[in-house]
Amino acid sequence: MERMGLARDIDLLLHLPLRYEDETRLQSIAALHDGQAAQVEGVVSECRVEARGRRQLVVWMSDDSGAELVLRFLNFYPSQQKTMAAGQRLRVRGEVRVGFHGREMVHPVVKAVAPGESLPQALTPVYPTTAALPQAYLRKAITAALQRTRLDEVLPPQALPPGLPTLADALHLLHQPPPRQPLEPLEDRSHPAWQRLKFEELLAQQLAQADAQRERALLRAPALPARSEAGPAGSLHARLLAGLPFALTAAQARVCAEIDADLARAHPMNRLLQGDVGSGKTVVAALAAARAIDAGWQCALMAPTEILAEQHFRKLVQWLEPLGLRVAWLTGSRKGKARQAMLDQVASGEAALVVGTHAVIQDDVVFARLALAIVDEQHRFGVAQRLALRAKLETQRLEPHLLMMSATPIPRTLAMTYFADLDLSTIDELPPGRTPVVTKVFADNRRADVIARIAEEAARGRQVYWVCPLIEDSAERAASQADADEASGKGRSAGRRQNPMLDLQNATETHALLSAALPGVMVGLLHGRMPAAEKAAVMSLFTGGQMSVLVATTVIEVGVDVPNASLMVIEHAERFGLSQLHQLRGRVGRGAVASVCVLMYTPPLSDTGKARLRAMAETTDGFEIARRDLEIRGPGEFLGARQSGDALLRFADLQQDSALLEWARRVAPRLWAEEPAAARAQVHRWLATKQEFLKA
Ligand code: ADP
Ligand code: MG
Repeated sequence: MERMGLARDIDLLLHLPLRYEDETRLQSIAALHDGQAAQVEGVVSECRVEARGRRQLVVWMSDDSGAELVLRFLNFYPSQQKTMAAGQRLRVRGEVRVGFHGREMVHPVVKAVAPGESLPQALTPVYPTTAALPQAYLRKAITAALQRTRLDEVLPPQALPPGLPTLADALHLLHQPPPRQPLEPLEDRSHPAWQRLKFEELLAQQLAQADAQRERALLRAPALPARSEAGPAGSLHARLLAGLPFALTAAQARVCAEIDADLARAHPMNRLLQGDVGSGKTVVAALAAARAIDAGWQCALMAPTEILAEQHFRKLVQWLEPLGLRVAWLTGSRKGKARQAMLDQVASGEAALVVGTHAVIQDDVVFARLALAIVDEQHRFGVAQRLALRAKLETQRLEPHLLMMSATPIPRTLAMTYFADLDLSTIDELPPGRTPVVTKVFADNRRADVIARIAEEAARGRQVYWVCPLIEDSAERAASQADADEASGKGRSAGRRQNPMLDLQNATETHALLSAALPGVMVGLLHGRMPAAEKAAVMSLFTGGQMSVLVATTVIEVGVDVPNASLMVIEHAERFGLSQLHQLRGRVGRGAVASVCVLMYTPPLSDTGKARLRAMAETTDGFEIARRDLEIRGPGEFLGARQSGDALLRFADLQQDSALLEWARRVAPRLWAEEPAAARAQVHRWLATKQEFLKA
């Protein structure tokens, strides 16, 4: 029970049935029809073991209607022959089959009863459980908990949506529905008793969010007022802006202003910058960093993979070093003296801007004056990592400002619940001059056509990505683990442990095939398990334009920016998630050339596979893709690490229960203001063990 999280009485009470069995009624055998789930009671006329074909126990019984029912047991204990001997009165429950031999039940639930024995007064709940925890035991434990627990109403009636029962009534009804209670609203969770539980849960969650928000409001951060003196001796911010080879889009300018306003306050920013792939988030991050540096503080930028961190590093060096700023570089692959020198510069404050992977949050990295932490592709990081980054300024009783960036927009319902404590800035406009990517979906028997197309692109001086998937889930986990390990400096042995090398095989084979099919074209290979130096060498050949075709695993998924790439082929596209496909496709269409993305699949496609590829072909809008993704997959994926461990919502469904959610959102602040004791009790009852997650 403990392993299933059933420790306290309240846990038992909130362990709700999956479905119910109706043992409160008896049907007449004569009236049974095929496929019906029924319970009947009658007397056994004969019971014998038949050995024709497979050995089986067969029992004939009949009830007052005079009709006969055959019970059939393919597995049985000798003792069952006694329980079901001729003359015994039995109550049996099971699914009826009407066939050649008349009415039958195979492996029904059987109970020997005395004449006139009473029927249960409630429907029988069937709970989710495991083989180690028998249903009957669990039922008894829950019934006992239900009897001994006094469930007071914590919430004042005016806080509740109208028409809902008390919590105690709701739980009694759900655990022990009265006879003749229609099952559908219970099983599809639309019954008011369910609504009450869902509301309880949503409200607790909203209350906790409001609380975390209030607590955070008490925190202090270094104020970074905007300085924009122009001219050669002016602020870094002004000089960076003046030196850019392009003008900011209106959307970029707007989000920069939002960020500046936050940074100017002595209260930590907690802002998510969302913008579709290619919308230009990096320059916004650089401008925010310049604000921190202008005010005399440090800024750290953390990216989930080494490739991406390196891209940021190069871009920032290109923009900032001409202005006299040194950018420090910190990743897992940088070791020994070089690393120590870097750490010293960070600790002394000499390095004003530090770019890196998870290596940035290692314990031995000490910042002198960290005022701004920027996390790119924030959904790739866990709660713990964000918390570690924030703690980097702890010694001064201040927290750094936090700017998270993501190309995967958070759907509104999720933003309202899990991310209520987060301010959002959205870049809803792409830089001018981009031509939307055209997406084509091909079965993989058209590979030859695709290769011919690659030859054409290469001949025109354009570049091509060919993305290979990881062959199976375990390989995928191992590989992404390998990327993460590498980035975090854990070395590669951990990732290798369970790595069947399958992804590698696929990518290397494709690399060999394309190299042979495209003589005279430079074809490169990039995957997560190459040494960092080799990866960097391949990347620089591709970014530099000498290499025309890059065969890669999903290491290129995020951030890679080569505007001359005009064709992307994704092999086994059906194996990728929708947001992953969108991220990958975002690698092309970054320049003015018209770009194409070919999604190759191996038939037959599953329904969700079809839905995903269709969505990709129909839209390039990241928000629309996120919406469809949520539809196809549910909210789990968006929550990522936040949801690892326990799901925060057990009963409510953000899509279905949006009306309850709206209500909870309205009520939560009022409840804190007017009945703080009730608010606290509600949070405690529901979320006692999950508080820390809500603060991250
Ligand atoms: P993402 O939002 O996906 O991280 P990037 O920051 O990598 O996008 O920007 C994509 C490309 O667009 C880069 O080459 C970047 O230099 C360029 N870019 C960014 N802002 C603008 C702009 N306002 N005008 C033109 N190009 C821009
Ligand atoms: Mg980016």
